[in-house]
Amino acid sequence: MSTVPATAGDDLVFPPPPEFAARANVGADEHARAAADPEAFWAEQAGRLQWDEPWHTVFDGSTLPTAQWFVGGKLNVAVNCVDRHVAAGRGDKVALHWEGEPGDSRTITYAQLQDEVCRAANALQELGVGHGDRVVLYLPVLPETIVTTMACARIGAVVSLVFGGFSAEALRFRVEDTGAKLLVCTDGQFRRGQAVSVKGAADAAVEGLDHVEHVLVLRRTGDLTPDVPWTPGRDVWWHDVVDRQSTEHDAPSFDSENPLFIIYTSGTTGKPKGLVHTSGGYLTHTSWSHWAVFDVKDDDVYWCQADLAWVTAHSYEMYGPLSNGTTQVIYEGSPLTPHPGRHFEVIEKYGVTTYYTAPTLVRTFMKHGPELPARFDLSSLRLLGSVGEAINPEAWLWLHREVGGGRCPIVDTWWQSETGAAVVAPLPGVTPLKPGSGTVPLPGLAATVVDDAGRETAPGETGVLVITRPWPGMARTVWRDHDRFVKSYWEPYAEQGWYLAGDAATKDADGYVWIGGRIDDVLNVSGHRLSSIELESALVAHPRVAEAAVVGAPDGTTGQRIVAFVITRGDAAGASDAALAEELRAHVAAAIGPVAKPRDVVVVPDLPKTRSGKIMRRLMADMTAGRGGGDVTSLQDETALAAVETAWAAYTASRAGA
Ligand code: ATP
Ligand code: MG
Repeated sequence: MSTVPATAGDDLVFPPPPEFAARANVGADEHARAAADPEAFWAEQAGRLQWDEPWHTVFDGSTLPTAQWFVGGKLNVAVNCVDRHVAAGRGDKVALHWEGEPGDSRTITYAQLQDEVCRAANALQELGVGHGDRVVLYLPVLPETIVTTMACARIGAVVSLVFGGFSAEALRFRVEDTGAKLLVCTDGQFRRGQAVSVKGAADAAVEGLDHVEHVLVLRRTGDLTPDVPWTPGRDVWWHDVVDRQSTEHDAPSFDSENPLFIIYTSGTTGKPKGLVHTSGGYLTHTSWSHWAVFDVKDDDVYWCQADLAWVTAHSYEMYGPLSNGTTQVIYEGSPLTPHPGRHFEVIEKYGVTTYYTAPTLVRTFMKHGPELPARFDLSSLRLLGSVGEAINPEAWLWLHREVGGGRCPIVDTWWQSETGAAVVAPLPGVTPLKPGSGTVPLPGLAATVVDDAGRETAPGETGVLVITRPWPGMARTVWRDHDRFVKSYWEPYAEQGWYLAGDAATKDADGYVWIGGRIDDVLNVSGHRLSSIELESALVAHPRVAEAAVVGAPDGTTGQRIVAFVITRGDAAGASDAALAEELRAHVAAAIGPVAKPRDVVVVPDLPKTRSGKIMRRLMADMTAGRGGGDVTSLQDETALAAVETAWAAYTASRAGA
């Protein structure tokens, strides 16, 4: 297996393949063209949408940090995502190829989607939901999840999607925080091959909340989960109320700044924040960036594998691709059910051209070796994407080679719930790629790396990522907590009017941005600032390491010491943990430098991650510092944290005894 330098740095560069560049949607002059007049650039991109009334002002910064874009303009987001394509004669084009976990599937055209959205919009109105009301969805990846999201947009209700795998407690927090009038859920869900009843959790989440008037229940698992607790009057079946509705529905026009959805952050760094996104600016940024970054073609079969409740899916599995009239695959289940090649099977089945995935999943596939993707015909793929965390160069190269056959560019897109859509990302026909870097800010977007005083850092020097000009997709506030919005993101660089993203980063000599982890995750060892991502990438590049998480533990002498938690590869049995630790220390020292040597190397069976698959370093940092009590409601699997705690206790006990 090849070993990659920890930062991959400037020595590995992948220019756009000439055939790809020749057909690309966006050409080489786009960055300069946008920089010359960003507002004109965004106005041009807003012009890709259908407006019922034109805006009079492209951008109004007088109310910052709550920006206003396309002021005075009116549109309907659902009409833009659905009806517009039917009206243009493309109603027979497939909107969704839905693949269920047990292997059932449905194909839905844009014309059918329009009928479904209209029915659902009529049903929501019958249930008393109107403009400005909040609707929470607690649903798996189903066509109805997208239908309901679009129905909310159509009537001006504010939707908030909650991951179907969340606990009743996590759901309740979101239902309560949004003050939702309606909760939509299923009878049950498929989770890794099992049918699990969820209506009980939904009931617990809404119990005693008077603002919830109805719970709309979609049948999914049916006889497999016969136990569906029912509160007459409040609870209604989807098939009783939606199916009998008319497929005609007059869509009103809403202001460009009309709230569209509330998205809760993943909770990687603490209690999730409910970001509010609005309509015209968000859809402009999302729709254009989807078209440009994913180089959308009419015959593409595009698959973003995120759960619909994550921001990734909002922008690049719902509003973005639908607004572009794209054919999509959506998949309900776990990537490993019923077998670890499930995703590759789906790519082969539908002839997927564009596959947008996450580093955590790539590392999981890597554990199974290149034989896994090799069993499937993946020749339809032409573009790959990554989001959610920095992708370790080793994982990037594996994805490029083993899944993309060496021919597909990889768009590594850096963005956040707060930014609405991609900010730092390549244009696949234009930008040379460096494994592990999201490359440079997109046209129309301005981001850089600065120090505490706001000075741009020198190449290679760690600073923080800031966005230096307002952009159309930016969140407008934190729901019911505007103070938190101002304090978290805008106060640190209030003087400059910059947005603080919360991520540490460096820029290289070519101006490429390298994310180093969360600001709080930067380690300080004897005055040296080290990035958790860089250390982890060095570890993952070692043949015996499948995954790694690095945190700083308090140290009386060096300030912090480096603690590495590693998952070893299945086939790496043999040497003792002590020998492995020595080997990894030497490996990291060679890759980065002696100062970067982990003091402690702890082998663990699993790592604590958020439900969206991000490593939760803060919980491990708390553990090594003897702190507790951090927010764990976003945790994917509590047993992973418990296993790390056990391994840590055994490790510290063995050291105390040594
Ligand atoms: P919270 O804000 O509650 O701690 P979160 O930041 O994980 O949660 P999201 O908005 O879902 O919630 O994730 C955005 C973050 O994910 C970014 O700030 C960054 O740290 C990380 N991220 C996303 N994409 C990339 C990428 N391509 N490269 C590096 N980091 C990324
Ligand atoms: Mg965040």
